[in-house]
Amino acid sequence: MPRRILVVEDETRILDFLARGLAADGMVVDWAQTGPDAVKRALGRQYDLVLLDLVLPQLNGLAVLERVQERKPELPVIVVSARGDVATKLKAFELGARDYVEKPFSLDELLARIKVHLVRPLASNVVRAGDLELDYTTREARLGDTRALLSDREFRLLGYLVEHAGEAVSRERLLSEVWGYGFDPGSNVVDGCIRRIRRRLGSESPIETVRNVGYRVAAG
Ligand code: CA
Repeated sequence: MPRRILVVEDETRILDFLARGLAADGMVVDWAQTGPDAVKRALGRQYDLVLLDLVLPQLNGLAVLERVQERKPELPVIVVSARGDVATKLKAFELGARDYVEKPFSLDELLARIKVHLVRPLASNVVRAGDLELDYTTREARLGDTRALLSDREFRLLGYLVEHAGEAVSRERLLSEVWGYGFDPGSNVVDGCIRRIRRRLGSESPIETVRNVGYRVAAG
């Protein structure tokens, strides 16, 4: 299974930059843009690491850190903040942060620091649903003899369906998870992207259309 990182960042521009950078490095990225959503997500599923901004709507990053570490002290959190004062840094470390990176940051340095804190040994970077395999290192989808190189968006969309194999996933959910917030829900970009993936995977494509809902990839 690929590494799964939760990025907590309310500024969409920075979030986008981070999500692309981490995805290009073979990681699966989830995100949250408010404090309460960050807590909910961090406690709600298994992550390998959390990148945490401090100035956030509704609940600040230090409060998020405290709540998450209280329940999951083993989960590594790296604070990524424009606040560079020593008092804030010390507070963050006291609350359990493993590292502290000041904005503006270098993506390469951040990736290097992330790797220091990832504890789970990486056996394989491949996820599967039935005969479909997605390789997060090469960004390749394999199905029987077909090997398809997907665009970043296509890979993320198919990855989301594979990780939720067996579930009917709505267009709205795909739009919000793969394209991000603020995308026009009336847009048909999801259908267009699915068409391109199906074309690349050929006639055996395992993506099913679920009427009035969205799409599904069969499990097992
Ligand atoms: Ca912020």
